Amino acid sequence: MSDASRPEIAVIGGSGLYEFLSDPEQVEVSTPYGEPSAPISVGRLGDRVVAFLPRHGRHHEFPPHRVNYRANLWALRSVGVRRVIAPCAVGSLQPRLGPGALVVPDQLVDRTTGRTQTYMDAGAVHVGFADPYCPSLRQAIVRDRPDVIDGGTMVVIEGPRFSTRAESQWYAALGWSLVNMTGHPEAVLARELAMCYAPIALVTDRDAGIDSGDSVSQAEVFAEFGRNIERLRTLLRDVIDSLSGGGRPDCDCASALDGMHLPFELPET
Ligand SMILES: [Zn+2]
Repeated sequence: MSDASRPEIAVIGGSGLYEFLSDPEQVEVSTPYGEPSAPISVGRLGDRVVAFLPRHGRHHEFPPHRVNYRANLWALRSVGVRRVIAPCAVGSLQPRLGPGALVVPDQLVDRTTGRTQTYMDAGAVHVGFADPYCPSLRQAIVRDRPDVIDGGTMVVIEGPRFSTRAESQWYAALGWSLVNMTGHPEAVLARELAMCYAPIALVTDRDAGIDSGDSVSQAEVFAEFGRNIERLRTLLRDVIDSLSGGGRPDCDCASALDGMHLPFELPET
């Protein structure tokens, strides 16, 4: 791919976000870890080339525990991506965060149980993950946007079932704010490939522990996501527009692997 057509920024998100790129080209990528969820769409957003990957596949065929996260991140890096913005649907664990709230969490708790969460399958290679998200990308999303909430802890559960009331009350009691099923291992895999990564969490429902009514339903989640899709597209457009194209981001993500003996060759473009 030439520099002019190389996407430096990607969005991993729901299929409803497809339409935000103009004239997308479908790029098929194979990886040492298998196939990504779908071909990567590479298209223009204003004067910028951007990649889009539907996390759950084109037709939402992969539930959260079946998404090939390793292939997805590897495929994006191999077409040139170095910064990933990751919209996702979340349940709220705090009464103040109602459906429609947009949050950029700053911490993550991993409660998944059955996912391969690393590329470092040999040797003693341990990346730093104290701050799981790129500070520079987070700032680009929250800066001057009073309607986007800056910070919070997102607990990532294995799914595909929703939480029990007791689990949900436990998470809330620990002070965590959001619950989700895809935020891990996506974030750590981005770090292991030295890419910037930040989530944009859209609250679709109040989780079982703080909702005295019926428990969460899938229909409710999809409906709330649908109601907010245009808002999310506009936010993504604005954020991507504000990112300086050629300049190096002001963060350490790209040097996360410096001095380490990796058990693989990083895909370079
Ligand atoms: Zn970064």
